[in-house]
Amino acid sequence: MNPETVLLTAIAVSFGLATGSFLNVCIYRIPLGLAPWRPARSFCPACEALIAWYDNLPLLSFPLLRGHCRRCGCRIPYRYPLVELTMGVAFGLMAARYGASLEALKWCVAASMLVALFWTDLEHRLLPDELTLGGALAGLAFAAFLPPVSLIGDFFPEAGRAFQSLAAAAGSALLLAVPLSFAGWLYKKIRGPVGLGRGDVKLLLLIGAFFGAERGVWILLIASIAGAIIGLAYIRLRRLDPKTYGLPFGSFIAASGFLALLGGF
Ligand SMILES: [Zn+2]
Repeated sequence: MNPETVLLTAIAVSFGLATGSFLNVCIYRIPLGLAPWRPARSFCPACEALIAWYDNLPLLSFPLLRGHCRRCGCRIPYRYPLVELTMGVAFGLMAARYGASLEALKWCVAASMLVALFWTDLEHRLLPDELTLGGALAGLAFAAFLPPVSLIGDFFPEAGRAFQSLAAAAGSALLLAVPLSFAGWLYKKIRGPVGLGRGDVKLLLLIGAFFGAERGVWILLIASIAGAIIGLAYIRLRRLDPKTYGLPFGSFIAASGFLALLGGF
């Protein structure tokens, strides 16, 4: 690595850590119906004390505080340092791979959305529209300025590159989401109320727009297999009732997409 790449990666890692810190706020506030930016300062959910800047440093504050609020001593979830670490790694890898480019920015945005959605679904069984539909729109916006994410663009050989790329992203989003939405509807008709959530379908719009239909199918396949294996194992281990346990399928889709983004497939 040349010194320039090292510097750029270091800057990206610090931006990633700061973004992770902000995502933690979003993961906590959006499912509660609160705006992520109001109140502007972070507070302890247990004692409502404002958190000083020196207790709010990404990665560092958690071990310094030994995982407890300075005022009331309540436990700080492991999610906080974990999200910060994940985002630091993701931003650093994207900068090292793509340099200071629009491509790098696109994948940093995708990583942020996927990590936030992983946790909101895991903790609240919620995939907020702000993140799924907002993310899908962001994916389309990037598509207008980057090469097509799918071969679907080839259906329009006469059109300009921006149109081809937009068609590829939008077509991929629909190609992934529509069949799944139909499958969910069918499942509901046959088996009753528990089935695929609408949030999962909207999350697939995001996956299609960012990754394209071809990679999207892999992401969905790996999420389904992992969801089935890990979900069943968890139900067995915890001796839960499989009829009432709601698998956070969105978390599996988000994790699978995140691994694809890091370069797994
Ligand atoms: Zn507290």
